[in-house]
Amino acid sequence: MSKGTPSFGKMGKGKTHIRCRRCGRHAFNVAKGYCAACGFGRSSRLRRYSWMNKKVNRVRIK
Ligand SMILES: [Zn+2]
Repeated sequence: MSKGTPSFGKMGKGKTHIRCRRCGRHAFNVAKGYCAACGFGRSSRLRRYSWMNKKVNRVRIK
């Protein structure tokens, strides 16, 4: 998709993501029924991966 006037036609077509009631982030996919950030609706455990924190010299940087 290009940016600018053509993409403005997609606005107001309902929302893809709503606020997740577990993590509070605006990442809960309405159509798929799960949160892209924490995995709510997909698994009972939180979605988290090792690469979510950047590591330099095997030390995690916060
Ligand atoms: Zn979530």
